[in-house]
Amino acid sequence: MNKQTLSFQAEVKQILHLVTHSLYSNKEIFLRELVSNASDACDKLRFEALDDSALWEDAPNLEVRVFFDADAKTLTIRDNGIGLSAEEAVQHLGTIAKSGTREFLARLEGDKKKDANLIGQFGVGFYSGFIVADRITVESRRAGLKPDEGVRWSSSGEGDFEVEPITRAQRGTDVTLHLREGEEDFLSAWRLKSIIAKYSDHISLPILMQQEKWDDEKKAQVATGEWETVNKAAALWTRPKSEVTDAEYQDFYKQISYDSAAPLAYTHNRVEGRTEYTQLLYVPAKAPFDLWNRDKRGGVKLYVKRVFIMDDAEALMPVYLRFVKGVVDSADLPLNVSRELLQESRDVKAIREGCTKRVLGMLESLADNDDAAERDKYAAFWGEFGAVLKEGIGEDHANQERLAKLLRFASTHADAGVSFADYVKRMKEGQEAIYYITADTLATAKSSPQLEVFRQKGLEVLLLTDRVDEWMLSHLYEFDGHALQSVAKGAVDLGKLQDEAEKKQAEEAAETFKPVLERLKAALKDRAKDVRVSTRLVESPACIVVEEGDISGHLARLLKQAGQDAPKTLPTLEVNTAHALVKRLETDARFDDLAQILFDQALLAEGGQLDDPAAYVQRVTRLLAA
Ligand code: ADP
Ligand code: MG
Repeated sequence: MNKQTLSFQAEVKQILHLVTHSLYSNKEIFLRELVSNASDACDKLRFEALDDSALWEDAPNLEVRVFFDADAKTLTIRDNGIGLSAEEAVQHLGTIAKSGTREFLARLEGDKKKDANLIGQFGVGFYSGFIVADRITVESRRAGLKPDEGVRWSSSGEGDFEVEPITRAQRGTDVTLHLREGEEDFLSAWRLKSIIAKYSDHISLPILMQQEKWDDEKKAQVATGEWETVNKAAALWTRPKSEVTDAEYQDFYKQISYDSAAPLAYTHNRVEGRTEYTQLLYVPAKAPFDLWNRDKRGGVKLYVKRVFIMDDAEALMPVYLRFVKGVVDSADLPLNVSRELLQESRDVKAIREGCTKRVLGMLESLADNDDAAERDKYAAFWGEFGAVLKEGIGEDHANQERLAKLLRFASTHADAGVSFADYVKRMKEGQEAIYYITADTLATAKSSPQLEVFRQKGLEVLLLTDRVDEWMLSHLYEFDGHALQSVAKGAVDLGKLQDEAEKKQAEEAAETFKPVLERLKAALKDRAKDVRVSTRLVESPACIVVEEGDISGHLARLLKQAGQDAPKTLPTLEVNTAHALVKRLETDARFDDLAQILFDQALLAEGGQLDDPAAYVQRVTRLLAA
């Protein structure tokens, strides 16, 4: 074989054109790609040598070396992996339809694939070298071939490439980049080390660079010829769980999260099945300042076969788990995967589902732990992230039941930490629904007149004061077969909880009070859609309720604060016929003032604002002065 000039396949020409003319940002990824190819070549050698140990020749330690020549402006990535024959060089570096890795993978079957731990997806990583180089020279010899069966491949990345035979003693490949004008900053050990640390730290074989020392004559750092490993060479998450200490997990969390506090919990698993991946996920102890920004990208880094792909891969976690930090390392995704591709990938969907389940499992094991200290951790978690987790009720229907069990509330029985399960355990004989009220603050919720009859009967009511609660409740209708029912919506039907005498009394009151109700309706016709006798009040004269399906006053206020128009529906006023103030209505001449005040006070009690506070003050003053 002599020196030959061959033409790139049309698709390669297209890619090269793209690479050299439109990739200006993140140029440094070429190093990630070339190191990844070197690592693949070593994986392939390891695999083929399973059947033919002669391939090891006399170099059993697989490694990658990165070095440069500042005068010649060249940068070389050397590996002692499988290498390329002349035919392979032509085929793999001249066409993309047949990726060598791909062909190799096709030859693998069943179990062997898992052992080999190979990458094997269609990619164009090699050509990324042309982002920074105007010529690439590859010198290689395939493992098992004779020294004089080496090959030199060379191209300026335009229309064609050259191949010629060479003699090469050592197995494996040198990829040498002749850097373009202006790319000299890659001729710096410091720069190269930092790129390797960023993208390739967790490549599992050593990446070596030469130590440098200061040369007085040259007034520069020069290579000493002493080689040192510049990457960690073993990704924490690829090690078996049993061999990683708690301290190492904690350290790793700090590295990836920039959080000085220890994480609350973590989980580390290898998932096998249709898609294979490793997950190492952490729940932080403290919420970040920008937790409420739903556009914020998640905290999970994506690796493919130990090669770093991207930070904050939001497709790996649902939005409501945006606080989770960690790493997912996929065995199946292509290295050149983009954010857009991630959104559509079925593998990614499976990973997201798997990660979600793990995080929920982690939270469940804190929440249901026999150890009180672990349960305290859950309480702390809830305080920091509970309101975010609630978003999941509406967004993740598949896990709604699990999420509902993780919810914690304040109630009329306890100021915090009440779960639906606790509530259900305390339900009264004959009670069917789970009662709740939404309000702007805990204080308003606690003193709501709507709670009175529930208090009197010892019925627990959940007090919901998070902004997200109303929205959450529009997606959650029941827990464990018990309907969720607002005590401020619709007519209270206490059903079996009310005895016959009480029911009868209420009906009679409604009958005798009918004329007053009619007058009230007329006086309040612009403010209330109905006025009726209440069964929920004990001490207060009146309260405001909305009909089932209408939005509550609390939600209307939230919408208004957010600058949105709430649909305008009038509420219903309920009056307590046993109250002295209401009784007075039957006889008092100042009926109109009293009616308006009754309504205004009911509105104030639920945290609402009066449209005309001055008018209210005048009316009250008139009454007080009389
Ligand atoms: P991919 O790695 O996804 O296959 P690349 O464009 O990065 O795509 O590489 C193309 C092919 O070139 C590889 O599949 C491999 O066959 C060959 N190749 C690249 N670098 C090396 C190397 N250092 N040693 C052996 N083969 C290599
Ligand atoms: Mg590659």
